[in-house]
Amino acid sequence: MSDSQFQVLLYYKYVSIDNPEAVMSEQRLLCSALNLAGRIIVSKEGINGTIEGTIDNTERYIAYMEKNEMFAGIHYKKSPGDGNAFPKLSVKVRDEIVTSDVPNLNPNKVTGKYITADELHQWFTDKKEFYIVDMRNEYEYISGFFEGTIFSGFQNFKDLPGIVEKLNHLRGKTIVTVCTGGVRCEKASGFLVQSGFNDTYQLLDGIQTYMEKYPNTHFKGKLYVFDNRLTIGFNTDDPNHEIVGTCMHCGTKADTYVNCMNHACHLHFISCKNCLDPETGLAFCSDTCKEIRRAKDAFASVA
Ligand SMILES: [Zn+2]
Ligand SMILES: [Zn+2]
Repeated sequence: MSDSQFQVLLYYKYVSIDNPEAVMSEQRLLCSALNLAGRIIVSKEGINGTIEGTIDNTERYIAYMEKNEMFAGIHYKKSPGDGNAFPKLSVKVRDEIVTSDVPNLNPNKVTGKYITADELHQWFTDKKEFYIVDMRNEYEYISGFFEGTIFSGFQNFKDLPGIVEKLNHLRGKTIVTVCTGGVRCEKASGFLVQSGFNDTYQLLDGIQTYMEKYPNTHFKGKLYVFDNRLTIGFNTDDPNHEIVGTCMHCGTKADTYVNCMNHACHLHFISCKNCLDPETGLAFCSDTCKEIRRAKDAFASVA
């Protein structure tokens, strides 16, 4: 790990929680006491969080959670932070810890078999026949992906039911589902098993763990993350590191995400430096968005 003073924890656990409201209150107190920012979702089916704080405080958080029988045994994925990954703390109760549109699927009952990063790496080395299905959304997928991946085509994880038709030709084959930290695959792989894909695996602890253990090998590019860092990489200075993203405007290789600066749009996309607005240095997804922002700024300056 780097010498960063901050770290980001990514974690989840599918576990039956009788009183999610009580857990929410306790999490708020705990995180506030430890000065942690980020997002935590609690539901009757489990907990899902990404939080940032100093290394000491995040380690205290883990130690505290370990003492709670309900939350013991969680594997925390850690990456260096900068103290600004999240603007604030948000702890909420929801129906599902990841909204999927297949809410009746319980990963504690039906889910894919687990494959570790080490085992998957061995499969690549052995050239075993298997098919990786990336369960993330398109905007995450475009900055980095496993070689030979079948992309889900998702704009949103709610598109999950559509995956069956897309994978029909793989019935009877070995499938490995992947996502950032593993939480979406609990449901996505379970859904595939339930839909008759009986040799379905899920990458345990997700792409982040694989990248950290085997940087610049079979996962190409950078990993999109849901905080202000936007993407993370491991050993990206290595000559084997590949940029796989392309500028949405001109198609040159790039992996920097920008936000469309029309505040009504705020689309997240990849842009090279040359395609930022030459006058203002701001990013716009389209000429329309640029015009809207220009009109607004002009109005604000006379108002
Ligand atoms: Zn460009
Ligand atoms: Zn836009």
